[in-house]
Amino acid sequence: MILLDSVTKKYPGDTEPALDSVSLHIEPNEFAFLVGKSGAGKSTLMKMITKEESPDSGKIIIGGIDLDYVKKRHIPGYRRRLGVVFQDFKLLPRRTVYENVAFALEIAGMSNKEIRKTVPKVLELVDLSDQAKKFPHQLSGGQQQRVSIARSVARQPKILIADEPTANLDKLTTKEIIDLLKKINDFGTTILVTTHNENIVNNLQKRVITMKNGRIISDQKDGGIYKLDGKPEPARRVQTPGHALKPRRRVIQ
Ligand code: ADP
Repeated sequence: MILLDSVTKKYPGDTEPALDSVSLHIEPNEFAFLVGKSGAGKSTLMKMITKEESPDSGKIIIGGIDLDYVKKRHIPGYRRRLGVVFQDFKLLPRRTVYENVAFALEIAGMSNKEIRKTVPKVLELVDLSDQAKKFPHQLSGGQQQRVSIARSVARQPKILIADEPTANLDKLTTKEIIDLLKKINDFGTTILVTTHNENIVNNLQKRVITMKNGRIISDQKDGGIYKLDGKPEPARRVQTPGHALKPRRRVIQ
């Protein structure tokens, strides 16, 4: 569903590549976290998927589409096939909750009749039916993020990518948003989420892909845990390398 093959990207003026021969395959219906310290290359990888940036070399195939063949004028149409969720929600401030979702469908070319049928269903999915007439500034951060998710899933994308979707939310609201993403994943959408939130990664026990200096340094397929250096966290260590190397003293009596 998401396929990167030896993707390298160096921004002009940088000495090191932001992505250094990254290969990754995310299967249909997977839920994967992308973690790594700031500057590791997570956002650049996401931008490769949305075609905001192009690689210097390597191949990217998303939902069966080879991005080399997506011409500039077709990029907006390609992006509408993806669900994209941002940390700052990016809602239209002068439009209501209902209109924010309806607008996304309108640009995608859906008829008014279809829009009137679809929006209430999507608002129900994100549990915001009773907030449809409110404007974004009248909502909490978590509710705004749910509108943003509603907007991105309204067109039923096969893939949803979310760059730090819970960065601006408190602990309880973060859980709500992650539960919602899980629900959307259960309906069959492939999901890739970048996060710095150790708790949600460790609680969800999903695939965890860790990046460092533009490379994937660890890829835990299931039951993954948050570990930025690709090494086990100290608390989980059973034996330090020092112990392992020390020869056992034989006791001679
Ligand atoms: P992350 O999302 O993990 O914080 P990024 O993908 O934003 O990492 O950055 C990876 C590397 O690419 C960093 O060294 C960063 O400084 C560099 N970088 C990111 N965006 C740009 C840009 N527009 N121009 C130049 N360098 C960039």
